[in-house]
Amino acid sequence: MDTIRDISEAIALANPAVERISSEVWQLAEVSLEEVGSAAVHIRELEAAGFTITSRGTAGVPTAFIAEWSQGDGGPKVGYLPEYDALPGLGNAAVPRQEPRADGQTSGHGCGHNLLGAALTGAAIAAKQVMEAENIAGTLRVYGAAAEETEGAKVYMAREGLFDDLDVCFHWHPAPIAAVVNVRMAANDAMKIEFHGQTAHAGLEPWKGRSALHAMELAAHGLNLMREHLEPTARLHYVFESAGQAPNVVPDYARLWLVVRDIDRRHVVATTNWVKQIADGAALATQTTATVDVYIGKHDLLPNTPLAKRMQTLLEHVGVPAWSEEEQEFARECQTQMGLTPKGLMTRTMPLFDEPTIGGSSDVAEISWITPTMGIAMPTMPLDVSMHTWPVTACGGMSIGLKGALAATEVLALATLDVLTDAELLAAARADFEKRTEGFTYVSPLPPQQKQPRGLPAWLNSDGSAESLSAMEHQPG
Ligand SMILES: [Zn+2]
Repeated sequence: MDTIRDISEAIALANPAVERISSEVWQLAEVSLEEVGSAAVHIRELEAAGFTITSRGTAGVPTAFIAEWSQGDGGPKVGYLPEYDALPGLGNAAVPRQEPRADGQTSGHGCGHNLLGAALTGAAIAAKQVMEAENIAGTLRVYGAAAEETEGAKVYMAREGLFDDLDVCFHWHPAPIAAVVNVRMAANDAMKIEFHGQTAHAGLEPWKGRSALHAMELAAHGLNLMREHLEPTARLHYVFESAGQAPNVVPDYARLWLVVRDIDRRHVVATTNWVKQIADGAALATQTTATVDVYIGKHDLLPNTPLAKRMQTLLEHVGVPAWSEEEQEFARECQTQMGLTPKGLMTRTMPLFDEPTIGGSSDVAEISWITPTMGIAMPTMPLDVSMHTWPVTACGGMSIGLKGALAATEVLALATLDVLTDAELLAAARADFEKRTEGFTYVSPLPPQQKQPRGLPAWLNSDGSAESLSAMEHQPG
């Protein structure tokens, strides 16, 4: 199929929803696992557009949900992965300088997930309009993918098999560039290593104590010696989360927070096993005890060539938003403030990447091993600006971010209609997926005993929480 359909009417109908979601979720700026109001905004818009909410508090994550709409007999099933969590400390006014919000909100959308969620939900709403008008059979399923920044709901949903029947799944991410995400991303494991010792007065009777901090220091040294013998693709990064309170008290508790990354699960799991030996060894040497809690892990992101090629065509067709001079000036001022060259905003699309491996990870990866998955990046921030910084928050709260989200909505809606109506494309995507996953069985990186994310706030940590989500819906939006 070479002609690209005109969906401008459906887009015009969906755009107000995209605008409302992106601006309301930006205002709410709720951090991972606490996105009560943000999930409710998505649910409100999806219900208003005729979708049915089939699950709330999905897979043990209170702020996750699933919405679905279906028409006709059979037809392909298409999934979308809207995220809506903000980051602590990245609150910023929608101005081209680092400036707190007037309302005192300190968290902010420094990864642009207000836009991310808006465009995926918007694409589903737009695609539904066209399907109805043209009587196209199929199912659209929107996964409220909470907590991407911490303990990704997608990993929990994948463990429960909630993506298993999809034919294709779409994602996108706000970015400085316009590109198809035809890349591989790293697999990872995140863990907390806790050491328990014996406290004592560090001056009077230190021989009565056994320092948990010493165990942690020794473990960190071991990790850094291990590093030399890992393959060059490995990444290891950690912080000391808890390391005692005062030097005159022998610390009886210490906690190290570690992320291990590599090109695939096999490499990551091997390194994680070595980490456990290092923790045990450090505990033995210091007469303390160690526990290693691998509380979440992710697969590497698997590309899909037919989907990537089609989305490249659609991306080039839709193109980069037409930026106003004021928007370019806003972007240049952000860059100047960040000490970057004031290049402004991206004005063209990138050629198709050839599956380079990048060091970051995403919980979208789980789905990519379960069904053909592909996404795009659209400019919503100035060139060269790093994710998780205040200009991302600032641009995401004004017209630059919104224009990027609207352009993404159109590409994603067009891609949806292509997979629904182009059987050859769908078959090619499936064949590519089957080839890449030959002999693979999905094994969840989550520990089986862990039913819910460990970071759930106490006020939300009910039983999976149908109640709390229905309560949320009645909160002022
Ligand atoms: Zn993100």
